[in-house]
Amino acid sequence: MIKLSNAALLLDACPLDGEWSHALSGKKVPVLNAATGEHIADVPFMGQAETQRAINAAEIAQKVWKTQTAANRAKILHSWVSLIQENSEDLARLITLEGGKPLAEARGEITYAASFITWFAEEAKRVDGVLLQPTAPDQRFIVSKQPVGVCAAITPWNFPAAMITRKVAPALAAGCAIIVKPAEQTPLTALALAKLAEMAGLPAGLLQVITGDAKEIGGELCANATVRKLSFTGSTQTGRLLMAQCAPTIKKLSLELGGNAPVIVFDDADLDLAVKGIMASKFRNSGQTCVCANRIYVQSGIYQKLSDALVNAVEALKVGNGMEDGVTQGPLINAKAIEKVELHIQDAVEKGASVLTGGQRHATGGNFFSPTVIANVTQEMRFAREETFGPVAPLFKFDSDEEVVNYANDTEFGLAAYIFTENAKRQWQIPEALEYGMVGVNTGLISNEVAPFGGIKQSGLGREGSRFGIDEYLEMKYVCVKL
Ligand code: ADP
Repeated sequence: MIKLSNAALLLDACPLDGEWSHALSGKKVPVLNAATGEHIADVPFMGQAETQRAINAAEIAQKVWKTQTAANRAKILHSWVSLIQENSEDLARLITLEGGKPLAEARGEITYAASFITWFAEEAKRVDGVLLQPTAPDQRFIVSKQPVGVCAAITPWNFPAAMITRKVAPALAAGCAIIVKPAEQTPLTALALAKLAEMAGLPAGLLQVITGDAKEIGGELCANATVRKLSFTGSTQTGRLLMAQCAPTIKKLSLELGGNAPVIVFDDADLDLAVKGIMASKFRNSGQTCVCANRIYVQSGIYQKLSDALVNAVEALKVGNGMEDGVTQGPLINAKAIEKVELHIQDAVEKGASVLTGGQRHATGGNFFSPTVIANVTQEMRFAREETFGPVAPLFKFDSDEEVVNYANDTEFGLAAYIFTENAKRQWQIPEALEYGMVGVNTGLISNEVAPFGGIKQSGLGREGSRFGIDEYLEMKYVCVKL
């Protein structure tokens, strides 16, 4: 069992229609410790009926919430942040236990998660309309913004807190109600966050969490006409399915899907900066984020130096249970994730790549994999096409700028890209040529609450965070007045 300082944050029921509820069937589903496989808790296994109940409750609650002033909504959101901060150690422990990331990273995630709530509490106050110039003297054209209504969020396990607050905060700030279906691996963090929102004074029905049967819950959230918007973060495959399921009711959609992030290191790069950037981007959360470097293109003049320095840095990483001091690499999320990493490495080695360090499961056992660097990777290998989502840095060699931009863009994904160069011209020209929603120049860390997060092509639709993020939860209304 887990021990938390605040026992009220370990929940086995879902906040639904103003009550902490169990599944109608009484069924529960276990939550496992990602590092040890131990059983840590049970959560309700809910389905369509409970989802319908949540949607009905959300509809009623939202009608009142939207009439509140933005300042009143902000006050509750700020109280939520204070409670998250007070309970941050418990929340971080929950993230590490169920998701596996090292405790230091989990603490960072709580700060990151809270930053979206603070940000959108303030943005709520800046949702303004405009008066347009009329086309005749006896007309007035008013454009205002109104909350979308009842929203749904389906979230992944790799950021069990931040992927929820990045959706819930702008929804609540805009005057919407939202129903969250967290990933089956990490429901405890979601339930704890909802408990803190309730303690902060958020009225019932505005933030409901449903755990259980993903297909049934997702099916109802997509099919139900009362739900006006779906925000999803997860795989492109599931995103495609949900988009199709939302088509009959023409829902507004935000989709944050897969990436296949290239990192380009030019000959003129600052080597230390490049290695630091690659380590941050590639090995955070053991390579399991959608903006993690997936392909590392290194210009021939710096290739050897970069690969030597990277191998040194990777060999200094410490693999283990994220609850232990000094651990920098936790487990992968499940056996399937390990198998995919192995498949990508095997495919590359068969086609002529060589393992410089790592390359196999870690001695710790379970779902731990040794941080790996692979050299001589080419465009013909799986690493070039598919998201590996694991602690493997594949090094590709290139010569010209044009060649590397072509390689980088040769994918159906378009989320994040990174370049390392000291040349000012390249710092401008290469990001412009890259078909990506976000580009880091001389940095591997680009996500924050201030900037618009999101991708193009099959990496998704819409942007989260930033002053643009609240628009995803607002509809424009035009009123034409004839005087
Ligand atoms: P991953 O393979 O990394 O778990 P997914 O895209 O499958 O990525 O999962 C992201 C989220 O989508 C999770 O909350 C998961 O439960 C949910 N999900 C997966 N399949 C479906 C589905 N058919 N309907 C609704 N939600 C789904």
